[in-house]
This record gives sequence, C-alpha cells and structure tokens, in this order.
Amino acid sequence: MLLSVVDRDRLSLAGRGIEEKRERGIDLSRPDGVKSTERRYAPQEKGVFEMRDDNCIFCKIIAGEIPSRTIYEDDDFKVILDAGPASRGHALILPKEHAADLFALPDETAAKVLPLAKKVAAHMVEVLGCDGINVLQNNGEAAGQTVHHFHVHLIPRYENEQNKSLLTWGQADISDEEMDEIM
Ligand code: 5GP
Ligand code: ZN
Repeated sequence: MLLSVVDRDRLSLAGRGIEEKRERGIDLSRPDGVKSTERRYAPQEKGVFEMRDDNCIFCKIIAGEIPSRTIYEDDDFKVILDAGPASRGHALILPKEHAADLFALPDETAAKVLPLAKKVAAHMVEVLGCDGINVLQNNGEAAGQTVHHFHVHLIPRYENEQNKSLLTWGQADISDEEMDEIM
C-alpha cells in the first residue's frame, strides 16, 4: 500500500517495500482482515477505453437519448445539473467519451478537467451567488461512485444551508504505527 507517491517508478519501489515487509514477517493485514496487498477495487487498466458504453446512463445523456439540463458543452465535455442535487446548482462534468473512472480516463482528458471545473465553478459563483463550491470525484463503490462513467461533482455551498455537515467527515482512528506502515 502506498499513499505518498504517484509516479510509476516510485510505485515499483513501494512494491519492493511491501515485499520486504512480507519477507520480514510484518503483518500487512487491514483491520477488517483483508490483506492490504489484495486490491479489492480493481480499476480499469489505463488504455482500456471505449468511446461509448451502451449500458451507461451518462453516455445516453451525452448522446441526447436521455434529457438533461445542460449548462455547458464543448467538444470534449458536457456539464449537466445533477438530477438528485445535494444543493442548489449541483452540477456534473461529464467527458463525452466513456471512461469508467479516473484510472480509465486518458491523461489528455484528465488534463482538461480541472481548468473546466475552475471555469464552470467561477461562473456558478457569479450566477448562483454561492459562498463556496466542493469539487468532488468518486472512484469505486466504496468511495460512493454509483454511475461508472467518470464525472466530477461541482457542489455549490451556501452559508445558510440547512445541511451544514454535507461533505464533512469525522476523523478516523488510525494509530501512528498504522500511518508509518502505509508509507
Ligand atoms: P456518483 O455517486 O457516481 O459520484 O454520482 C452520480 C450522480 O449522478 C448522483 O449525484 C446522481 O444524482 C446523478 N445522476 C444519476 N442519474 C442521473 C441522471 O439520469 N441524470 C442526471 N442529471 N443526474 C443523474
Ligand atoms: Zn458512459
């Protein structure tokens, strides 16, 4: 397991770290009994990428087969209002080409996502008069992903909103030893 680095060369070093721990008999199990080296969430390999998935609701929205409230569109993206909004103006950035999640998203598309989020969010602040915006992106069911077509949530926040605790979390009970182990 590795949290502190992201590039592939370093990932392989971390892999060796896990092997070393195994050889030294260090317990790699998680509190729920699942080995930390067993990946439960198997993201699609990079490069496995299809234009469209016929069973995907967002692909149907992008194709105009299912109606949506579209607030922005360009060659690569459609931005729609979420049908089950967490707040007034909750929007979703959808790449037009189907990719199940962040791991399947081509880097070229990924590089365009944050500038677009910034542009749309700035527009939202102006138009909606919101006091803040959460930019959120879920990968895998354990992370709350329900639609398996990559998307970014733009969730406007209002000082006076009823659901103040929306998108906040309590601190998990992780010991210093566990923190050290996952490094
Ligand atoms: P996830 O939980 O996968 O991160 O978010 C999926 C989001 O898609 C949810 O917030 C849900 O309300 C929204 N959603 C699901 N189906 C539709 C739909 O048919 N139209 C629109 N506009 N939003 C949808
Ligand atoms: Zn799709």
